[in-house]
Amino acid sequence: MGSGMTMIPKARDRSALEQEQFLNILSREEALARFAAALFPRAIPSERRKLADALGTALAEDITAPIDVPPFDRSNVDGFAVRSADLSAAGEGAPARLALNGETIHCGIAPKLQVAVGTATPIATGGPLPRGADAVVMVEHTQPAGSDALEVRRAVSPGQFVSYAGSDIARGEALLRAGTIIGSREIGMLAACGIAEVRVARKPRVAVISTGDELVQPGEALAPAAIYDTNGAIVAAAIDENGGEAIFLGAIPDDEAKLEAAMRHALADADMLVLSGGTSKGAGDLSHRIIGRLGQPGIIAHGVALKPGKPLCLAMCDGKPVVILPGFPTSAMFTFHDVVVPALRKMAGLPPRSDTKVSATVPVRIASELGRTEFIMVSLVEGKDGLIAYPSGKGSGAITSFAQADGFLRIEALADQMPAGTGAEVTLFTPHVRVPDLVIVGSHCTGLDLVTAPLAHAGLTVRSIAVGSLGGLAAAKRGECDLAPIHLFDDESETYNAPYLAEGLELVPGWRRMQGIVFRDGDRRFEGLGAKEAVAAALADATCIMVNRNQGAGTRILIDRLLGGARPEGYWNQPRSHNAVAAAVAQHRADWGMTIAPVAHAVGLGFIPLAEEHYDFALVTARKQRPAVQAFLDALGSDEARAALERAGFRPA
Ligand code: AMP
Ligand code: MG
Repeated sequence: MGSGMTMIPKARDRSALEQEQFLNILSREEALARFAAALFPRAIPSERRKLADALGTALAEDITAPIDVPPFDRSNVDGFAVRSADLSAAGEGAPARLALNGETIHCGIAPKLQVAVGTATPIATGGPLPRGADAVVMVEHTQPAGSDALEVRRAVSPGQFVSYAGSDIARGEALLRAGTIIGSREIGMLAACGIAEVRVARKPRVAVISTGDELVQPGEALAPAAIYDTNGAIVAAAIDENGGEAIFLGAIPDDEAKLEAAMRHALADADMLVLSGGTSKGAGDLSHRIIGRLGQPGIIAHGVALKPGKPLCLAMCDGKPVVILPGFPTSAMFTFHDVVVPALRKMAGLPPRSDTKVSATVPVRIASELGRTEFIMVSLVEGKDGLIAYPSGKGSGAITSFAQADGFLRIEALADQMPAGTGAEVTLFTPHVRVPDLVIVGSHCTGLDLVTAPLAHAGLTVRSIAVGSLGGLAAAKRGECDLAPIHLFDDESETYNAPYLAEGLELVPGWRRMQGIVFRDGDRRFEGLGAKEAVAAALADATCIMVNRNQGAGTRILIDRLLGGARPEGYWNQPRSHNAVAAAVAQHRADWGMTIAPVAHAVGLGFIPLAEEHYDFALVTARKQRPAVQAFLDALGSDEARAALERAGFRPA
């Protein structure tokens, strides 16, 4: 590629460009090894921190207890400090009488008087034991005998209700070892010893830069064709989660001079630099060239056999690691956790992260690219014989898959698929499996959230996995979910859903969704027409562009019927959701399409009703009595849910 060229290559040049960019693709293991070899060993810088600021840091020194805790022999109860020998003969029938000494020992009061033979001193919980005493009697076990004496009707053993000096922590004892991560309990131990400051590993300062002309920071207005900078926020948070101190420097446009200035500024100040984006535009070449000027040895790996994450670039510039993560947030996160986190934690003096892993079965075949280690995000549900891991296949551009998935599984580079029924190890994103109370697998609808809202508020966890109507039915037949929302039209009987039910499933009526033609308000070609006339008008106008739906969608069947075999401009644009159809029309990429009324109205589009679609639930009869299923059925039938559905534009069945 010529120097200075940062244009988008023409389609046919693109593969050539990518080949050039990623000529030396390394295996994941090789890339990890080279990065580690370039980074370590290195000294872990340390600093003194006040206890209050030490939370989450790693201790850089062994700590020896400087005092005894408690510092003196101390009473554990409210009562009387006594000499146990005085009470050796005491019993129910033989009370011992002790004279009271003339002081009361509260917390923080040093005793002045000795407990002589035949005497006792009132003492509060936490009070220091006076000289002469060797035990404490609980106040409940005594009776006053006049104003200056008491009676005790039971014997006490020496040391009763006394905590001896150093019994908790002994002076000179090794309290905490270097490398310990300081949590609230460690802070408590240090505070008990009077330690106000500790030497801890200094958190690596990690500069974070997002790159891309299209990026806008959250909180700012979204211009056309712009997207919000997701990586900046998620990378910075993940750095802090793993012992670093993130310094977010914002998004820099794809401009060599600006980017170089930002990178130099970042490296001057930080221990490490993490960039994202700029690898699929030919601009990867840009950061590549800049890195070459920033210090030695420069690039260590550019192109790693990971999926997602091939464009990952690892470099070392005069002792400081520089990482360029791929632009897509999911790719950025996987490569960050897989490759950057181990190095970051080591730099922060932290032990490797201990992720929880569980075994699960994959219910469907997962295709995988040969030669790349592939990470697949999954949602877990409880099947008949253990956990089932559903791939949350939204593609590497999707961020929600990260927040909604329970974890991920790995397909090794040498496998080209994981067959349905394979047992796989799932690495959890959280320390424990969160088994949901209610599992809904099938077609998604915004109306569903309205019905499940009260369940969530009542503390029930609801997991909804969108796999389409047919996928949901299959899951229901395997008993992997409680309910499968479906909207399947049967051409033969001209009815919805019921003909698709198998044994063991029953139909729970949901709601109706009005399907119709969407157009931009004010478009004369459609206003005031019925659906059939509107489509006829659209077909008559060669400049009118449609947006279709994917094969297999219920909506697609309706569109094809209306078109009667016509293939107008836009027919091959076949997005997979109602929302995408509305977005295409709202953004003038198409002039009309078919979607459901609530979606059209939410975007402010014109809408011509055509036919009602039935969105119902295939209920797994064997799971009907589960409390969460009952709660769902109650919610579905409630006046509140019906009203909410109607407000949103649905018609409850
Ligand atoms: P790039 O490698 O810069 O071409 O980016 C690949 C894809 O990731 C493009 O669709 C970018 O818009 C997207 N992307 C890059 N950086 C970010 C970011 N910080 N937040 C969200 N998406 C991004
Ligand atoms: Mg970019």
